[in-house]
This record gives sequence, structure tokens and C-alpha cells, in this order.
Amino acid sequence: MLPLLPLVDTAGNLACLIVVGIIALLMIILLALMAYQRYMAGKRPVQHLCDYCGHMVSVVSDCHHAPVKEKFLHGICTECKTECRLVCAKCKRPV
Ligand SMILES: [Zn+2]
Ligand SMILES: [Zn+2]
Repeated sequence: MLPLLPLVDTAGNLACLIVVGIIALLMIILLALMAYQRYMAGKRPVQHLCDYCGHMVSVVSDCHHAPVKEKFLHGICTECKTECRLVCAKCKRPV
């Protein structure tokens, strides 16, 4: 099949294939980067704005000042496994 095709057409097809290949490769890299960013964002502890400190701080539980598993508007204290409020890790005021 291939040797019967004119040389120009073969070269054209090859160039076309390379372009498609490069685009596909770029798409894969982009998707991988986006997945990586989402993964990193998920791992990073969520920062909250503390009114008292005036900047973004990490939060701890109000009962044990331990790290919290954050839920919507409250958290689970990793020390006593009960619901707790989130307080600033630095000044221990509610955020
Ligand atoms: Zn604070
Ligand atoms: Zn606790």
C-alpha cells in the first residue's frame, strides 16, 4: 500500500501525524499538571484568615489545640475524635 503512494503525500501524512501526536502529548502533559495541582491542593492544609492575627493561618481544634479534620464550618478533633470549632493555631481565637 504505502510504496504506491506518491512521496509528497506520505511526507504530508507523516507531518500531519507528528502534529497530531505533539498536540496529544501536550494535552496529556496539561491534564497531568492539572491533576497534580489538584492533588497538591488537596494535601495542603487549608488556611483560614484570622481576624486577630490579620493573615492566613492554619487552624487547630478548640478543645485540644490539636490538628483537625476539616468539615464544612466545623472540624473533627484528631485528639478526641469529636466535633470541635476551628481556632487559630497562633492566638487560639475562633476563625
Ligand atoms: Zn490568630
Ligand atoms: Zn479534642
